[in-house]
Formats: sequence, C-alpha cells, structure tokens
Amino acid sequence: MLSYLHAFHAGNFADIQKHGALTLVLSMMQAKASAIACFDTHAGSAIYDLDSERARKTAEDAGVQKLWACRSGLRSEDWQPITQGLSSFNVDKERLGVYPGSPAWFRRSLRRGDSLTAFELHPSESGQLANWATGRRVRVLHEDGLKGLLKQLPPVHPRLMVLIDPSYEVKSEYADVAKTLLKAWQKCRHGVYLVWFPILTTGLHAALKQAVKESPLRKVWCSEIHLKTPPERGMTGSGLLVVNPPWGFDGRFSAMIDDIAGDQALGFSHEHNWLIPE
Ligand code: SAM
Repeated sequence: MLSYLHAFHAGNFADIQKHGALTLVLSMMQAKASAIACFDTHAGSAIYDLDSERARKTAEDAGVQKLWACRSGLRSEDWQPITQGLSSFNVDKERLGVYPGSPAWFRRSLRRGDSLTAFELHPSESGQLANWATGRRVRVLHEDGLKGLLKQLPPVHPRLMVLIDPSYEVKSEYADVAKTLLKAWQKCRHGVYLVWFPILTTGLHAALKQAVKESPLRKVWCSEIHLKTPPERGMTGSGLLVVNPPWGFDGRFSAMIDDIAGDQALGFSHEHNWLIPE
C-alpha cells in the first residue's frame, strides 16, 4: 500500500539538498563528452503545485521559498542550475508557485546523447509522470524502482548516474536500499549513485549507513544536514550518500550548502565525511 505523496513535501529542505547534489553531480560528470545513462528509481510526479491543498497543508515548501528569497546572496555559482530552473518554471518571480521534482531536474540537464529512465510505482503519480514525460525523451516505467534498476544494469551508455530516493514508508526499505546499492555497484562499479535518506529521531538511517560501511563498496561520501529547530514530528535532518562522487564534488557541494545553512536562510548545520574512502 503506497500512501506517501511527495506533493506534501515538495520544495522542503531535503529537496534542496538532494536536487542541489543532483544538478552538481550531473554538471561535473558532463565535463566529459561521453553519454550518461541516468536512472531515477523513485521519481514522483515531476512537477508540484506549491499552491495546492497538499502543499499548503504542510507548508514544507518553506525550504525552497527561503532559498529563493536569499538567491542574490548565494556565493556558489553551482546554485545557478537550480535558480535558473526555478525561474523558468515560475512566471511569478516573487513567491514560487511551482517546484520541479527530480525527473524535471534531470531532464533540464540532459544532453542529446544522455538518457533518463524514471521508475514510479504509485498509480496516480506514475500516470502524471508519464503525461509529463511525453515528448521529453524520458522513459517512464511503472514498476518497483529498486528491482527495475537492477534489470537495467549495466547501462547501454558508457557512464551511469542513479538517484535512489525512496519514501522509506516501510522500515525494510533501509536494508533493501543497501542491498540494491551493492548489487547495482557490482554490475556497474564506475557509476555515480546518489542515495537519499531521512534523519528521524528513531535513528533508522543508521542501519543503512552501517550496512553500506560494512559492504565492499568504495568511495562513499556522506552529507547530513541537521535542522537547528527541528519540528516535533517528522524529519530532524536529511542525508545523502554519494558513491563515486566526481573529483572535487565534496568541496563544491559543501560550499553550496554553507551558503544556505545560516539562520537567515534555512537554519541547519552540515556534517560531511567519507563514510568509505577510496
Ligand atoms: N525523487 C522525487 C523527487 O526528488 O522529486 C521524490 C520521490 S518521493 C520521496 C518517493 C516516490 O517513490 C513516491 O512518489 C512514491 O510513490 C514512489 N515509490 C514508493 N515505492 C516505490 C517503489 N517500490 N518503486 C518506485 N517508486 C516507488
């Protein structure tokens, strides 16, 4: 039973971290001309209306609204794909009404030879995703993203980038993600894998990190943001594992995050380290 809907959470602080990393990884990989096969294992519906009842109920879009409000003070040029993307999706430039999800961020960055395969299991989300993808050179598969990814590897293109972004509605997903990541890496060791996880008071994400740490995987960088004023319920932070980040990614991504960490912006601390060095 799938009950999670990203429309309640689009544009939150975790999306900013995740989509900032996604656009930076892709642009760094695209410094080389060879084609990239991109996979989005849990894609959502691609475009979110921030004025919808769902978005207004939680008001989690405060993350992207704050980023937008402080955009002129962002020092890192690596925010440009995000600010330009937000600008192109929004006619009203004062307050954002539309937020693009991961397939839309991928799509904006694709070059002629690159490809994107997006998995989504929820029937209505998958339908919306398929409608959006029509005519956009995006393959949508209405199937389990973890099993589906393994069926597609090794990729047809020389290089691989994968976003694994489940809703973690079921506790077993933490272990499933770790197992899938290892199997995917065994099929394509040079791929760049971005794995998002929530940081909750339950601490369930620790099992995912531990499983990865004990695996044969190499070169895994970890970024965690921790809210200074966490809500009573829900996420207190947000994490990313990046397997095989492009050289220099850690410094450039940390600079991006430093731009928005202060109390005037999103108000969090950033911890980062090599979970597994080379
Ligand atoms: N990646 C999206 C983004 O950044 O805009 C957000 C994805 S949301 C966190 C997780 C999505 O995974 C939901 O849309 C949910 O319906 C979908 N989902 C849940 N279980 C799935 C599965 N086994 N395979 C593929 N999609 C699944």
